[in-house]
Amino acid sequence: MTTDYADQRRWSLETQMVRGATERSQFDETSEAIFLSSGYVYKTAEEAEKAFKNEIERYVYTRFRNPTVSMFEKRLALIEGAEECRAMSSGMAAVFAALACQLNAGDRLVAGRALFGSCQYICAELLPRFGIKTDFVDGSDLKQWEAALSKPAKAVFLESPSNPGLEMIDLKAVCDLAHKAGATVVVDNVFATPILQKPFKFGADVVAYSATKHIDGQGRCLGGAVLASKEFVMDKLTPFMRHTGPSLSPFNAWVLLKGLETLELRVNRHCDNALTIAQVMEKQKGITRLLYPWLPSHPQHALAKSQMTAGGSVISFELAGGKEAAFRFLNALKIVDISNNLGDAKSLACHPATTTHQRLSPEDRVHVGITDGFIRLSIGLENIDDLIADITQALHA
Ligand SMILES: *Cc1c(COP(=O)(O)O)cnc(C)c1O
Repeated sequence: MTTDYADQRRWSLETQMVRGATERSQFDETSEAIFLSSGYVYKTAEEAEKAFKNEIERYVYTRFRNPTVSMFEKRLALIEGAEECRAMSSGMAAVFAALACQLNAGDRLVAGRALFGSCQYICAELLPRFGIKTDFVDGSDLKQWEAALSKPAKAVFLESPSNPGLEMIDLKAVCDLAHKAGATVVVDNVFATPILQKPFKFGADVVAYSATKHIDGQGRCLGGAVLASKEFVMDKLTPFMRHTGPSLSPFNAWVLLKGLETLELRVNRHCDNALTIAQVMEKQKGITRLLYPWLPSHPQHALAKSQMTAGGSVISFELAGGKEAAFRFLNALKIVDISNNLGDAKSLACHPATTTHQRLSPEDRVHVGITDGFIRLSIGLENIDDLIADITQALHA
């Protein structure tokens, strides 16, 4: 028995995650197959001609489409509630494609200032080299969005919650302002995951993911995805992808596809663990700032509650004692690893000022809250008591 893809849109999330967009080969396999093939063969020369003229729909070349990659794209589109999805080789390939496919020289981009390091590079340095002007705003300050979007803009780019400062942006308000200014809104939804926040519900036009994070969730492979309307994907994204080649490998697509089957279970466990740990950490001495969206002490707790269904896997905090105290904490951890990845089954901690955000000037870092004592903690799926014991002993070190 198979169900039409259109009918699968009515399935519940859990069913979509396990079964959505499955396509069986002639061998009737249970688990989705990996089609490790760069090309496809045609029965006749006429068939090849028709395929290249887009007169028949079929696989032509894996830089364009691939059956395993398609299953991942279509399943993620179901989960997100998007018309279309295109998978990419990494989260950065996804973010760059989502912006570069629609921007031209002379266009203006408005972006939230608190961005993942490489996203910041694309907006602040790379796109301006091609004649695109980027204006940054403090994401939590609606007045700054209002001012920046009182003039025409082609696109808006933002992260909410932001990496690593966990700043929330009012998605509905910014999307409304952006649309009045004529801008397409691109949301990097990595920290929220497809489970906790649905940017399309608030008016976003394009959603980008690093699938490397929670979608894989087990630290195995890089991947990314862009979700949008059929029109955006067909007219803008597909030509950009076909000719510039940020395509996802079928093997990685298969790993990520299997990752989607357990995404909701894992994300909810990440969130339960992270909330409990944040509550414990809030009572510890030596922490001058602790950020977790589901704690009432988060400056935008109410906004977080109105946009997300749980607080996510990341806790960020600042230790009194600057870099020395931060390094002492990291070096004292026995279970949690020092790593700049996040959203992994393994709990990971990093010092953004000297790693992911070391490229920023000290002033720019402080502006987005990344001080020398600041640590980002990605809470994994280990036993909660073991994690609490490890983190509290490291805090006392
Ligand atoms: C990791 C990350 C990216 C980049 O993803 P890669 O898969 O590492 O290329 C982009 N945005 C955010 C918010 C991230 O955390």
